[in-house]
Amino acid sequence: MENPAWNEVVGTPVSALPVVSIRAGKEKLLRNRHPWGFSGAIERISHPATDGDLVRVVDSRGRFIAYAGYNSRSQTALRLLEWDVDRVPGDEWWSERVRESVARRSHLLSPQDGTETDACRLVHAEADYLPGVVCDYYAGFISIQITTAVAEVRKALLLDALIAACATEHLPLLGIYERGDLDVRKIEGLDSASGTRWGKSPPEGLTIQESGLQFGCSIVSGQKSGFYCDQRNNRLRVESYSRDRNVLDAFCYSGAFGVHALRSGARTVHFVDSSADAVVEAEKSVELNRHRGSAAGVTFDVANVFEFLRAIEAGTYPYDYIILDPPKLAMSAAHLSDALRAYKDLNMWAIRALPVEGLLATFSCSGRVSREDFRRAVAWAANDAGREVHILETLGQPEDHPVRLSFPESEYLKGYLLRVVR
Ligand code: SAH
Repeated sequence: MENPAWNEVVGTPVSALPVVSIRAGKEKLLRNRHPWGFSGAIERISHPATDGDLVRVVDSRGRFIAYAGYNSRSQTALRLLEWDVDRVPGDEWWSERVRESVARRSHLLSPQDGTETDACRLVHAEADYLPGVVCDYYAGFISIQITTAVAEVRKALLLDALIAACATEHLPLLGIYERGDLDVRKIEGLDSASGTRWGKSPPEGLTIQESGLQFGCSIVSGQKSGFYCDQRNNRLRVESYSRDRNVLDAFCYSGAFGVHALRSGARTVHFVDSSADAVVEAEKSVELNRHRGSAAGVTFDVANVFEFLRAIEAGTYPYDYIILDPPKLAMSAAHLSDALRAYKDLNMWAIRALPVEGLLATFSCSGRVSREDFRRAVAWAANDAGREVHILETLGQPEDHPVRLSFPESEYLKGYLLRVVR
């Protein structure tokens, strides 16, 4: 059962791994391959483990459940990695997970002709069996974010695996940059170092392509890892309804939804975001793609969308297509009911502001809000607005942000394309 490659690195035989026993009654989700084991579910640990160490997780009767990474400083003390007792997560295991993840995405990228899409997620954390590891590819640069101790102590191995996987898939790779400034790292007891970890530093003015459109992407200082490529497919769906529409791109960030709408003949697009930097990026995006879009009336505002929508005068209908792509509104389970009310209010004001036959593309990216909850919040919004609404399309995550069935939290992005019919 021992894996020699793994032993070289860790220097511990599998039989000597710390054994973490789970309290009776707390093992069911873990057995069903959910990757998070909370500290409260732990009954005992056979001997002290260092944060980031590999441990064996067993039930209260000593039966094997999984191999996991351990972190004494995190509430999510166990990050379950592998449920097959014979596949010990050694170096080879980690490299293989990275290789598989990159291989699954390479068909999305067309770096040879450089015309279509050169931005996508290469590793989607738990959904790709790599807890806390997110890697995004942007025109030759990788942004890596690590938020678990088990991945942190294997950073060098992960970087080598990424470099090798890109070479295998013929993906040009110029540099790898780590974004370490995430709040979750503090909760996990990890420091907040950011920087270039391999190759060249990503330039501030990096331009990426998505579906034939160009956008600026600041890997070093942008939001998230620089660009929201999880909306790639949804932007195409939203675009397909935009001819002759007067569009509000609310929570626009770098304006990717609105720029798609312009390409397909939107009459006007108003870009709104509360961040002045984001609005500057949206202005740049419009300029970058001006040759592709209509010469429509394009306007920009730095504003709080909640107040902006509420202030639209009844009966004026300045827009007949509203896109609502707010940030995560439910930061934790405790905030769920407040978040649902916020989604309800936001959608209610948007529906009120739309004429009959107006369209609304509405999204939630909160992992804590289930699809059912979100749909209920939108139905509640329509009801409070006194309007009748059709669902035209149900929207979700693209294949490079897969949903893992055994990990429902990985379904974080949900959306609806709606038509107000009365
Ligand atoms: N639609 C964008 C992504 C939106 S991310 C895209 O396709 O790329 C969420 C955005 O909402 C961020 O740019 C953030 O600055 C903005 N934001 C957060 N709270 C806001 C508020 N109350 N009003 C307006 N914008 C807000």
